[in-house]
Amino acid sequence: MPQRSIVEYPATVLLTPGEPVVSFDEELKSLVQDMFDTMYDDGGVGLAAQQIGVSLRLFVMNCDGIKLVAANPEIISTEGEQDGEEGCLSVGKVHADLKRASRAVLRAQDLQGKTFEREAVGLAARCFLHETDHCDGILFIRHLSPLRRDLVLRKFRKIQKSR
Ligand SMILES: [Zn+2]
Repeated sequence: MPQRSIVEYPATVLLTPGEPVVSFDEELKSLVQDMFDTMYDDGGVGLAAQQIGVSLRLFVMNCDGIKLVAANPEIISTEGEQDGEEGCLSVGKVHADLKRASRAVLRAQDLQGKTFEREAVGLAARCFLHETDHCDGILFIRHLSPLRRDLVLRKFRKIQKSR
């Protein structure tokens, strides 16, 4: 299965909420396979469809023991708080400290269109929140203070220039 190129900030597709997934067909399965391949190839633990330029509410992840496909994801509850670093393949993997909920419950549909709920803590909860944000057209840098965001973007531009 082919890997796809990662779309990077500030591409419009990353900053726009995705369209709902309505067809749970072979095409979706093949897209999801490409997403997993691309995610593994680029060393990520989660990837949203927007990151390969497809405007759909869809993400894949394999993080901290939780591997899943989430179509039309929503976070239905959160609890607590965790400190930690977060980065994104679409922002050159530049990391920044970002507080997130320590526990999150995800509701989504699987590849067959069946609705499921899954609870996660720690890194996997962070991943749920990060990827669901992507589906809503929100990048993690939007949660940072202007100063920190600026720092991340400056590092990112340096990386882009050095390629
Ligand atoms: Zn990301």
